[in-house]
Amino acid sequence: MKKSTDIDQLISALPTEATCYGYCPACDEVHFLTEGNSRQYALELMAELEQHKRIDFHTPDPEPIFSTDCLWEKRGGQMFGVLECVDADGNTVVLRAFSGQFNTRWQAEGWVPPTFDLDGYYRILSTIKSSVQQMTDAIESCQQKADQCQLQFEEAMRAGGRAAQKDCRRQMRGAFKALELAKNKRRTYSQSMMVVFLDLYQLHNFKGDQRSILNVFYEDRGIPTGSGDCCGPKLLHAAAQNGLTPLGLSEFYFGRENKASTRFHKEFYPGCKNKCQPILGYMLCGL
Ligand SMILES: [Zn+2]
Ligand SMILES: [Zn+2]
Repeated sequence: MKKSTDIDQLISALPTEATCYGYCPACDEVHFLTEGNSRQYALELMAELEQHKRIDFHTPDPEPIFSTDCLWEKRGGQMFGVLECVDADGNTVVLRAFSGQFNTRWQAEGWVPPTFDLDGYYRILSTIKSSVQQMTDAIESCQQKADQCQLQFEEAMRAGGRAAQKDCRRQMRGAFKALELAKNKRRTYSQSMMVVFLDLYQLHNFKGDQRSILNVFYEDRGIPTGSGDCCGPKLLHAAAQNGLTPLGLSEFYFGRENKASTRFHKEFYPGCKNKCQPILGYMLCGL
């Protein structure tokens, strides 16, 4: 495993045509893909988005939620990606992806699915929601009790005797302690559930390996939210799962410029540094 400055150096030495890259600790080198012929397919996709103004143009019954109007609203546009692949018989297969969710949906006809196990996600989501609700109710009742004890203590300090004051102080301390414990319990549970969610990302690569994102993401500053949801990882994962060999990848932004003014309509961008690069080396391994 190299130091991050050494990895940055390897990445800066990549050919300028590289669109998708990351350091692979197993091989101790940077694996990468260039755009190959994918740009022409990306331009076709852009033209289709402009023509149909929705992303579910493969289905006869459009759903309003898949209209591209949302990409021009306040929160800005979105990244789209195209992966040119070849199958075992030598046929060209082109995969398409949108980053993250499209307007609250993880899946749409004609697009690769998310990198994580969507069924598993929905299964654990309902259990987690009810557990968190129970813990939130417990926090609220502890809060009420603590407030009540505090009022009683203040009252005792004004009008009560020494014994009553001492008793009220003891009760108030106990109530605040219980409140703190209830809050800690919910916090610990939420953190442990984040790990369970991340474990749903079982990343595939081209050596035939499969590994949880928890064991792939090599930087120790924590896994940023949305890692594995960008177009690059989604497309590579789908290709590996379907026995396709990637040849070229292009990712472009479509819609209103983002708030930070770093993404512009119909411009092409390489895989991002924070979320993608720490997993793409593993995902590209074996190509
Ligand atoms: Zn990314
Ligand atoms: Zn490798």
